Amino acid sequence: MNIILLGPPGAGKGTQASRLEAERGMVQLSTGDMLRAAVKLGTPIGMRAKAVMDAGELVSDEIVSGIIGERLDMPDTESGAIFDGYPRTAAQAQALDGLLAERDRQLDYVIELVVDEEALVDRVTGRFTCARCGAGYHDRYKQPKVEGVCDVCGSTEFKRRPDDNAETVRTRMAEYRAKTAPILPFYEEKGLVRRVDGMADIDAVGAAIDAILDSGS
Ligand code: ADP
Ligand code: ADP
Ligand code: ZN
Repeated sequence: MNIILLGPPGAGKGTQASRLEAERGMVQLSTGDMLRAAVKLGTPIGMRAKAVMDAGELVSDEIVSGIIGERLDMPDTESGAIFDGYPRTAAQAQALDGLLAERDRQLDYVIELVVDEEALVDRVTGRFTCARCGAGYHDRYKQPKVEGVCDVCGSTEFKRRPDDNAETVRTRMAEYRAKTAPILPFYEEKGLVRRVDGMADIDAVGAAIDAILDSGS
């Protein structure tokens, strides 16, 4: 099974993708995570992407579709991929169709996380992750069970993204509205879109996604 999680910054894509990865043996493909890894390593792609990401704008279609194509050649993705934060433009949606077809794979669902924009600033500015394993948390909505200690790996170091500030989030939302939301009709025509209320609590969103994946329709 291959699915896309679609929604604006802070909608809960990464949270749900990590859970699906842990529970279903699918592989989370987050272009945001891949780009941040490239920035950290100082690769040529990372060096080109950094300023664009810090500004909340979109990295070029060629770069992101290139890294997704390379990732799809790794055998672990054959068991099923969760596209998280990709595609984000019409050109990327077209590219993904080609990348999957070349590998005899297909998309099963495009799950849109429907959220209220005002809540997103709060979600994104309160977001932090474990510095060692990447587990995601929130200042109010998802604190570690023991304060200051990662639930997953026990690390006591956490980090915040430089682009998770109120100003950059506005730019990222505008990018979503202008370039990403318009790809929904492309998938509607293929009958792939399913909507989930992304304002529900994390477990309820997870249950709604599970119901779709298990329904087979
Ligand atoms: P969020 O989940 O908060 O929307 P991401 O981690 O997916 O953020 O993306 C962070 C940044 O990385 C984006 O603002 C953009 O600059 C870049 N990026 C990630 N994925 C893509 C993509 N598919 N196309 C273009 N830029 C991307
Ligand atoms: P995205 O990948 O779509 O940008 P994340 O999954 O990183 O979003 O979620 C953004 C922040 O909001 C994180 O701090 C996460 O813990 C929190 N969060 C995710 N889903 C929910 C939810 N349904 N209700 C409340 N907070 C949530
Ligand atoms: Zn951890």
